[in-house]
Amino acid sequence: MPPQRLVASQDETFDFVVIGSGFGGSVAAMRLTEKGYRVLVLERGRRFDDPDFPRTNWDARRYLWWPALRCFGMLQITLLKDVLVLHGSGVGGGSLVYANVLMEPDDHLFEAPGWRDLADWKTILRPHYDAARRMLGVTTNPCRWPADDALAAAARDLGKYESDQPTEVGVFFGKTGEEGRLVPDLISAGKARRAPGAFTAVRAWWAAATTPRIP
Ligand SMILES: Cc1cc2nc3c(=O)[nH]c(=O)nc-3n(C[C@H](O)[C@H](O)[C@H](O)COP(=O)(O)OP(=O)(O)OC[C@H]3O[C@@H](n4cnc5c(N)ncnc54)[C@H](O)[C@@H]3O)c2cc1C
Repeated sequence: MPPQRLVASQDETFDFVVIGSGFGGSVAAMRLTEKGYRVLVLERGRRFDDPDFPRTNWDARRYLWWPALRCFGMLQITLLKDVLVLHGSGVGGGSLVYANVLMEPDDHLFEAPGWRDLADWKTILRPHYDAARRMLGVTTNPCRWPADDALAAAARDLGKYESDQPTEVGVFFGKTGEEGRLVPDLISAGKARRAPGAFTAVRAWWAAATTPRIP
């Protein structure tokens, strides 16, 4: 299905226009809205509801964003001169397709010579990592699959056994035995919205980013 087009009145004015509704654009729009600005978010891709997601990557029309071939899915593949880029398309941007892994950089990155002398980034960014973890519902992945064992074996062969650790992910797993049950929304805790047991925290994050806060 081609993207729905929402035509805003030409008389409406906005303080800010944010192009793209991915991780960056939606957080920027939310923070500006919280400060009281009127914000317009322009998104080229479509909005995905639960039934719109492809059940397999082979469902190219729902999976790939390639309008010339009438594919209005959520993943665009862009071939540049020296690099092939996979990136998201749709309301939510890359959060529609990403693997939910939410790692924090280690000291090695903060000590990179290109920027370590500009500011104490580790301290400056700390509260923002904490906010992102809270809003994305980051938790340690409790699952282990045969693929993890294969990766661990490869890491061991490379002498990197310590890298075999459970990942931090933005996924709501719920409690064992309560699969499929409705639970209170993680972000708007105490409010009326409810979400299905298997939803990812990213979707809650997007809902929070697009829902006006009740003072
Ligand atoms: C398959 C895959 C798996 C990934 N897994 C992880 C992971 O596990 N952990 C992790 O941290 N990162 C992961 N990433 C990377 C992560 O998704 C990106 O870093 C992140 O989405 C970038 O955010 P962004 O806001 O910069 O851009 P995006 O999230 O890509 O958002 C850009 C938005 O702008 C829209 N747009 C573009 N051009 C226009 C235009 N002209 N007009 C209107 N709208 C426009 C696009 O449709 C898109 O919605 C993954 C990425 C992919 C593709």
